[in-house]
Amino acid sequence: MTATMQAAITTLRDWLDHLAARDRLAVIRPGVALRHELAAISKRFDGTKATLFPQPDGHAIPVVSGLLADRSWIAEAMGVSGAEVLGRFRHASTNPIPWREVAQAPAQEVVHREVDLARLLPLPTHNALDSGPYITAGLVITRNPRTGVQNVSINRCQLSGPDRLGILILPRHTHLFHQMAEEAGEPLEVAIVIGADPLSLLASQAIVPVDHDELEIAGALHGRPLDVVKCVTNALRVPANAEIVVEGRILPAVREPEGPFGEFPQYYGERADRHVIQVDAVTHRRDAIFHTIVGGTMEHLLLGGIPREATLLDHLQRSFPGVRDVHLARGGVCRYHLYVTLNQRHAGEARNVILGALAGHYDVKHVIVVDEDVDIHDPNDVEWAVATRCQADRDIVVIPRTQASKLDPSTDKGVGAKMGIDATIPLGSDPFTFTRIRVPGEEDVDPARVVDPGANGWRPVVGGPSR
Ligand code: MN
Repeated sequence: MTATMQAAITTLRDWLDHLAARDRLAVIRPGVALRHELAAISKRFDGTKATLFPQPDGHAIPVVSGLLADRSWIAEAMGVSGAEVLGRFRHASTNPIPWREVAQAPAQEVVHREVDLARLLPLPTHNALDSGPYITAGLVITRNPRTGVQNVSINRCQLSGPDRLGILILPRHTHLFHQMAEEAGEPLEVAIVIGADPLSLLASQAIVPVDHDELEIAGALHGRPLDVVKCVTNALRVPANAEIVVEGRILPAVREPEGPFGEFPQYYGERADRHVIQVDAVTHRRDAIFHTIVGGTMEHLLLGGIPREATLLDHLQRSFPGVRDVHLARGGVCRYHLYVTLNQRHAGEARNVILGALAGHYDVKHVIVVDEDVDIHDPNDVEWAVATRCQADRDIVVIPRTQASKLDPSTDKGVGAKMGIDATIPLGSDPFTFTRIRVPGEEDVDPARVVDPGANGWRPVVGGPSR
């Protein structure tokens, strides 16, 4: 797409090599406990290093976690600069590349048709009140029963029995396909792909209409068609280079208890009767690696946040050409707090941007609009703009009783208020009043070159410097 573009990362193994070469992969001592200890260690390294756990609880398959700890890592996986991440993702979403089917795949080197999930796979239990072990980083692939087009999402999958999983399916595309199958009294074929490459994980979170196959967006992010292979027990096509694939069926007219489970807002999702997967087979590489996402970590937040930012930026720029950038802040769990940079040209425009942003996704709860001299990736800079450019009686917009995130515990069962803060300089105000102070040359000071290496403590030489 641009002259600066490097080759994108296309497999989990290449990504682990990339991280290890930069001292960003912590290899943990063998034998860590799958219950709590693995997640505790992974969280300790959150934001700085990915973690690899050999022989967890003595299991032959190692576990990795924290693959995308920082947005700059996503830029590296894409092979672009940090400023190009949203543009690259948007380009891939609107210019998908169809996948290519292959006959043989590393993901099917080993095939198990007799399945005991807890024995075959190292399934961790993360949080204190989680109901038990979960698959948290699986790409859940299903197919539209009417059109045959595949869909990809990430859903939490609870170990409910040796060959049985509980799955949370929110009312989006997978849910729609299951409804169609269920009305016909049929199960819905499903594949859970574990150990995908980082860009396929990101592509799975694209906010695109139904019948837009997210594996084609993954291909576009890779810059070439994704190799897929047909499952051994059903008609689904799965990434050939994945580590592990769980094949099964989402049963019709069956619901069983699932949860609680620690979710992205740092609270538990409740226990309720939810969809059930009957597992038919597990395939994997001979030396497979299992990936787990610990709830609420940077990996979890960024995987949801970056695709939403790309969609929200696209949505806002259609109506407001002065919108330069958007950021879903970490403090707002990369979902609830949106910062917008606006080159404001018309009086009142920031308020229109607030309304547009709040309508862009129901998870967006608080919007702050700032001028171009404010760095929306620096929360202190955004707070400074609110502190010095906003008056509460004049610049705050509140909209009560809207659809909100059901996982936000402060809402009334998913109904809540939205708030927008206009922290832009009022158009027509005296420019000097809002000129940020600046010391000439402050950006150019190199600490290594201004320190006196021959200084003897802090006392200046009596009589001043020698001439
Ligand atoms: Mn979809």
